[in-house]
Amino acid sequence: MRIARLTAIAAVAVLSLGVAACGGDDGDDSGSTGGGTEGKSFAAGSTMERLNKAQKIIVGTKFDQPGFGLKGLDGKPAGFDVEIAKIIADELGVPEGNIEYIETPSAVREEKIEKGEADIVVATYTINDKRKERIDFAGPYYVAGQNILVKADDSSITGPDSFKAGDKKVCSVQGSTPAANIEKSLANKAEQLVLFDVYTKCIDALNSGQVNAVTTDNVILLGFIARNEGKFKLAGENFTEEPYGIGVKKGDTAFRTFINDTLEKAYSDGRYEKAWKDTAGKFDDQVPTGPAVNRY
Ligand code: GLU
Repeated sequence: MRIARLTAIAAVAVLSLGVAACGGDDGDDSGSTGGGTEGKSFAAGSTMERLNKAQKIIVGTKFDQPGFGLKGLDGKPAGFDVEIAKIIADELGVPEGNIEYIETPSAVREEKIEKGEADIVVATYTINDKRKERIDFAGPYYVAGQNILVKADDSSITGPDSFKAGDKKVCSVQGSTPAANIEKSLANKAEQLVLFDVYTKCIDALNSGQVNAVTTDNVILLGFIARNEGKFKLAGENFTEEPYGIGVKKGDTAFRTFINDTLEKAYSDGRYEKAWKDTAGKFDDQVPTGPAVNRY
């Protein structure tokens, strides 16, 4: 009895080795155990078909923004943007383990898409016309708003107008919409605006007193507030609208439509709400209702 069972187990082991070897033969080093397309079929020549056949997708996201895209000790980013990317991968029939994440700081997002180094960019990425000259956006899937972060005991800054006197320094990130927008409120840009490539460097600068404030989207700042309990606060109300989109290659209308369809599906089947509650919802309990996608 026992021997028969062991023989059966051995046979299964040999069989699975065979399957693994086949996977290796076709040059598939993605870690997938087969070329399965999970029963999905897409139009010939479409990006969806390419990604499904490759069983892999490259996602550009942030690595240092708590709640949206923060690289963990396991080397993988986690957050709302990452969950949105996982939903898209799933609809493409690409297993979660086959998603490759690359870091896309604000200033390099368009370039990474143009060069094909990222298939999609989900990275607190505001949809605007200037960016649409180089890439296209699916979504929006969330609407944030620009705000200002200060030390918890600072009452001298209450909004963008507080920079008009010219005596306060504010930090933001190169290539971001908040950096461009805050310029309007500065008396002396060269003196007052400090720019880095990522927001954690602004947080360090605020901590060390090199700057008086950090400006970007409220939800990004809320993530830093939650991570640094008691240290920081928002200085006032949101003063812009930042609709977050998913960046894709310019002209890939079929892929954009597919992602918009996917978002609408996720809005109604609970996946969108769960994605929020599991991530950014931990420090922002206002569960968003998915905004209407813009099929421009
Ligand atoms: N949503 C803004 C932007 O896309 C700010 C956040 C960011 O830099 O990622 O520029």
